[in-house]
Amino acid sequence: MKTVYFTAPLCLALSFSLPALAGTKDNAERDHTRGGGTATSTITAPPTGFSKNPVERFVESNVLETLYHEMAHALIDTMNLPVFGPQEHAADFFAAILIDRVHDEPTARQMVLDVAASYKASFQSNRSLRSQTSFSDEHANPMQRYYNLACLYLGGDPENRQGVAQQLELPTARAEFCASEFEHANFAWGGVLQELGEHAPAKTITLDWILDNNSHLTQFVTREVAALNKMLALPEPITVSVIPCGEVNAYYDPTPKEIIICTELSEHLAEIAPNR
Ligand SMILES: [Zn+2]
Repeated sequence: MKTVYFTAPLCLALSFSLPALAGTKDNAERDHTRGGGTATSTITAPPTGFSKNPVERFVESNVLETLYHEMAHALIDTMNLPVFGPQEHAADFFAAILIDRVHDEPTARQMVLDVAASYKASFQSNRSLRSQTSFSDEHANPMQRYYNLACLYLGGDPENRQGVAQQLELPTARAEFCASEFEHANFAWGGVLQELGEHAPAKTITLDWILDNNSHLTQFVTREVAALNKMLALPEPITVSVIPCGEVNAYYDPTPKEIIICTELSEHLAEIAPNR
């Protein structure tokens, strides 16, 4: 998860969900020039699009980023991937790379702004996240995650993303190295994405437990699961459930190999949306 910290099998902090529709990346050629295993030709993004309602869009951006984050946990588990560093950081980086690779520029930019706003809201509203103990959490502090996301986004296209970096107040000293940071993250996850894309489309991600099939959250997650199935063929099936958890959370449970998106998460995101 991303903004809120709760205990869960692999993911204590909060993550997010998906937009209804996303766009195909218009700069795929650029990605072919990056580090080993980074070819994006195997990643075929489905037509997507976020809600025009700013609160719904904010929720969608954050839910989608969260789904990507939890997908990283699922891939690390099912592919037995080595992780050089904290797994929560690797999951954040996977989400950032997927945002860059899958979505068109306006969609990716809006997602980054929405997710960053969620991190900042979480930091500002929760005193414990500003205390010394917050640094012992397995997740990075929300503001560290904020700047990591801003940096990776900038690093994906430094020439054209300076405006967003300035809007997010990414310090120049950090921005200087973001292209390199992106390159390393893209190299690490690029090979995984290429491998998973070789046999796509597939149906290795399925919906399991659903509270309300007609809810905006469920319909959004359903669309994004379909989008992931078009891009990725996982080595073994996983499920996604959209259910009440009694807490604001989202997490991956390795025993049933299930991603749980708590309905409380979208409710919480709607409450903290800056444009509500
Ligand atoms: Zn996590």
